[in-house]
Amino acid sequence: MITIDGSEGEGGGQVLRYACALSLLTGEAFTIENIRGGREKPGLMRQHVTAIEAACVIGGGECTGLAVGSNSIGFRPGRVTPGDYHFAVGTAGSTGLVLQTILVPLMMADAPSRLVIEGGTHAMAAPPFEFIARTLLPVINRMGPTISARLVRHGFYPRGGGRIEVDIDPAPLRPIECIERGAAGAVQTTAIVAGIPFDIADRELKAAQKMLADWPVDAFSTRQLSAEHGPGNAVLIEAAFEHVTEIMSGFGKLGTPAERVAQTAAKRMAGYIASGAFAGPYLQDQLLLPFAAARGGAFTSVRLSEHSRTAMALIERFTGQRFGVSETGAGNLVEAIA
Ligand code: ATP
Repeated sequence: MITIDGSEGEGGGQVLRYACALSLLTGEAFTIENIRGGREKPGLMRQHVTAIEAACVIGGGECTGLAVGSNSIGFRPGRVTPGDYHFAVGTAGSTGLVLQTILVPLMMADAPSRLVIEGGTHAMAAPPFEFIARTLLPVINRMGPTISARLVRHGFYPRGGGRIEVDIDPAPLRPIECIERGAAGAVQTTAIVAGIPFDIADRELKAAQKMLADWPVDAFSTRQLSAEHGPGNAVLIEAAFEHVTEIMSGFGKLGTPAERVAQTAAKRMAGYIASGAFAGPYLQDQLLLPFAAARGGAFTSVRLSEHSRTAMALIERFTGQRFGVSETGAGNLVEAIA
């Protein structure tokens, strides 16, 4: 039985999701206290409850203390069973983060799975659908499995109502090296609006264009969804390279000027491009679990985030898998020590 203090390190929801995934992978039960103790409003939120429920369902697990607001839970894993599953967060809580909890156990299973997940697809502090489909999954697919994702419907904060579908065809995982990003390819910035003034998208594009001044004019476009998807707004800034595609995103919020939403995402993209690293600030922590499951491999990354450091410590506790981190010209080199 592993005991976790949820306020340690990054102190957010990711600790919970990774603990569930690691528990399913290793068969090790855990308890966690001070859940999201590093956050202003600690305890489980709806999206965390759904993620843990999903882990119980696919992994025959049992959980005690599972309720919105709960500060501690106990989780005992069973046997991971691939199959067709449907999970609904019920709020704009992230579909991508539910997927983050169950993806690795299902891609190591002995048969395919099909997932339908409903909730938020484009909301703050979580990977938007495009990041999952075009940034994360292509890297994981290089390790062996075949995973594809479709966006059926957008879901924005606060309404949610989005829907993604994911097909997972497992295969033995092999360690991979993700050192070079390779030659630069297409770039694209898309401002999406749904049920809010179109002018917001225009302002976002102008702000992004200022910061990415060397990008061609036709790399900036707007996309208007029908009002029933909204209200909602997202900016997606995408740069494809030979071996990886990075997507930085920003999400409109009442009270935050549209310009600032776009500038923050564009600044992150400019920093990523200048770094020369393979993984940006979010891909890095999301690669750690698959790399640990493959028991090897390496990637270069922009400066290591607290999310990554916390995930590494948790992975080591459950599996003994350690990561070496060293400085390179392109930021950090992260190696899963075989
Ligand atoms: P909390 O509310 O406790 O912060 P949370 O469950 O919403 O928790 P975090 O613990 O902060 O989330 O974890 C967020 C996860 O989403 C991390 O894996 C991070 O890499 C990923 N993420 C956050 N923002 C983005 C983004 N813009 N693009 C891609 N991935 C993102």
